[in-house]
Amino acid sequence: MIVHYPKSLHEDVAMAKSPGGDVLIVGGIERPLNREAADYLRRRFPFTAPAPVLSRPRTFGVGDRLGIACPGHIRVFETFDATPVFAQQSIRELTLTNRTYEDVLDRVTFAVFREGYHGGFGADGDHLKRAEDVESALGIGYTMITLDCSDHIRGDGGTALIPDAVRDRYLGQSFAIGEGVSLTFDEDTLARILHIYDGAIAFAASIWKRFFAGSRVNADFEISIDETATPTTPLQHFYVANELMLRGVKPATLAPRFSGEFQKGIDYIGDLDLFDREMAIHAAIARKCGYKLSIHSGSDKFRVFPSIGKHTRGVFHIKTAGTNWLEAMRVVARCNPTLYRDVHAFALRAFDEATRYYHVTTDLSKVPPLSALRDAELPALFDQDDARQLIHITYGQILQCATLKEKLYAFWGANEEAYAEALQAHIGRHMEMLGVMKA
Ligand code: ZN
Repeated sequence: MIVHYPKSLHEDVAMAKSPGGDVLIVGGIERPLNREAADYLRRRFPFTAPAPVLSRPRTFGVGDRLGIACPGHIRVFETFDATPVFAQQSIRELTLTNRTYEDVLDRVTFAVFREGYHGGFGADGDHLKRAEDVESALGIGYTMITLDCSDHIRGDGGTALIPDAVRDRYLGQSFAIGEGVSLTFDEDTLARILHIYDGAIAFAASIWKRFFAGSRVNADFEISIDETATPTTPLQHFYVANELMLRGVKPATLAPRFSGEFQKGIDYIGDLDLFDREMAIHAAIARKCGYKLSIHSGSDKFRVFPSIGKHTRGVFHIKTAGTNWLEAMRVVARCNPTLYRDVHAFALRAFDEATRYYHVTTDLSKVPPLSALRDAELPALFDQDDARQLIHITYGQILQCATLKEKLYAFWGANEEAYAEALQAHIGRHMEMLGVMKA
């Protein structure tokens, strides 16, 4: 028997559940959910196509590695005054999950159509490092590019010779960035900043010129300098912003690396007062230079959300990814303890290998052994940082294990509602802590 999704009914098109999975019904004829069907929907119903959304005040990237989180995310953005970037994947995530940019975007289009979500959404080619990757993501229809400049940032502690023009521009004066804050450079600091960032600035400017200048593409440009060994000081942030402006580069967002630790999937670790003081300056610099701050690894950073919401005055971009996967696994732990135990045991074996890809300070000895836990205690593992990170960073290997992958997808297929509710509550809590109002 075919069950229609009531919110998907648009003219003579609707989506339905069939024994083999969801299908599209067009004029009474069943069609599989493939690339052609996604293209058809995007052409005929533009609300199912991504758009540049970063100029809206609050935007929120919700990477969905599994391709099943979108219906739950939609509930969040129907509740809160923020705009989603539903498709958001880095090349690393694509490789680890065996997916393509086309597939990620198509899954979103189908979910948006199925749930009848008309609020608009973006699609982010996340952490791209090469011009050819930018070109391919834009060609597929992505409406946001996050340029990862980390290969061009020199973190070796060296100094550069300061050209006269730069010396005249920065030394012997102070820069009022408004709100009572002014910044001054001394020679040594300037020489260090030049050495660290000049390559990254030139790289960002070249990508801007090639793809974005003169509104050549209908997409938002984010510059990310967050993947570095040390935090971006306010002075460094200002220098990068000012040099980009001088070169005519107009990013929609810029992602510095903030002080403290933004580890994947757990709360902020670090000095809250320092974070708050620096956030005030970072936010003022972004306002003065005409872009939004972008906060990466924004999953579960509840301790600093109030500071971010306050100093950005509710104008920000936040990226989350891993937490959506962790919520999917929390539902497994709650509803299918046997399957969860298999995945957990597998993750313990895969952990060492996974630490090659992710910076975490996980202490596995703090994760209670499975044999000591009753089934009802398994979900509480997701309230413990070390257990969270164990499952967080091993997602690639877990999903590359064919037996586990098949069992997990069968489980999520049968428990869609439980996952949607979990996401609604968990991402909803992010919104509340950031001070986002109900829509
Ligand atoms: Zn990042």
